[in-house]
Amino acid sequence: MSKEIKAWAATSSQKIEASTITRRAPDDQDVAIDIKFAGICHSDIHTVRSEWKEIEYPLVVGHEIAGVVSAVGKNVSKFKVGDRVGVGCMVNSCRKCDNCKDGEEQYCADMVETYNAKDPKDGTITQGGYSQYVVVDQAFVLNIPESLPLDKAAPLLCAGITVFSPLNHWKAGPGKRVGVIGLGGLGHVGVKIAKALGAEVTVFSQTDSKKELAMQFGADAYVATGDPKAFDGLDRKFDIILNTVSAKIPLDKYLSSLRRDGSLVQVGAPSDPLQITPFSLLPQRIGIHGTLIGGIAETQKMLDFCAKKQIFPEIEVVSASYINEAYDRVVKSQVKFRFVIDVSTM
Ligand SMILES: [Zn+2]
Ligand SMILES: [Zn+2]
Repeated sequence: MSKEIKAWAATSSQKIEASTITRRAPDDQDVAIDIKFAGICHSDIHTVRSEWKEIEYPLVVGHEIAGVVSAVGKNVSKFKVGDRVGVGCMVNSCRKCDNCKDGEEQYCADMVETYNAKDPKDGTITQGGYSQYVVVDQAFVLNIPESLPLDKAAPLLCAGITVFSPLNHWKAGPGKRVGVIGLGGLGHVGVKIAKALGAEVTVFSQTDSKKELAMQFGADAYVATGDPKAFDGLDRKFDIILNTVSAKIPLDKYLSSLRRDGSLVQVGAPSDPLQITPFSLLPQRIGIHGTLIGGIAETQKMLDFCAKKQIFPEIEVVSASYINEAYDRVVKSQVKFRFVIDVSTM
């Protein structure tokens, strides 16, 4: 049976308010999930404010979903009622292309985003996690291990996998040096995960103001980049540098601080073009890459890893009525470090 449920929807670029939406009845492959917590991601804000493209209102956003299974379709083998589960940024893909076959569904041309995309199952526009309940194909549902609290698990489903995937792909681990630019929603999880993987971690931030926190999160070193001598002694030091900053920053000094075959990976997405001097790439075969979340198997690996290592994002749990204020605080970088909506307050 389809179900009418409470949700908080963007009704204009400036307002999220209480609303109701209808979810389809689960088909044979679907998992029905009672949502307990939904993270607030900066992408939600860009989408709601039509900063990436014009959108149709109303729209329910949210792609950091943690909850409990309330029903399963008859062909569902991976999950049962009562299981703790999560849904991240995608809810379907073609399942046939090379990317899908390789478990890199996030790069599938027909990947279906959790909100504001056309759902191939019923042709409607997908509605996200700021809601009480969602129906998702079992292939895109993640298991949340018992030792991972549901509220803290939510931001892992976007922020967590966004930083885990490049660290995993470029093999951050013992003997590797990782730099993380920016200590915000993404960066702070990146530091914790890189450290837990066994790498030596350096945080780059404009001023000294976040030094204490960076060290608490496990950083081995901290560089305040506003200091003119900040990069002295860092030549050819790092294997991987994650750039989590979504503003345009000069990158040449970071590129010169990478070792041979080192990678600078963009996970933040500034809208302005990046400026680099090619000569900072040539002498050491340096690469610049960009990555987008991670595949489903990799996301499960990340959740299992964070559960085992007890790595959690720093969160502030808020009620649904606080969403608009939370958005303003995210834009002003006044959040430590991710907001999570308690769905029971809807
Ligand atoms: Zn996100
Ligand atoms: Zn595909």
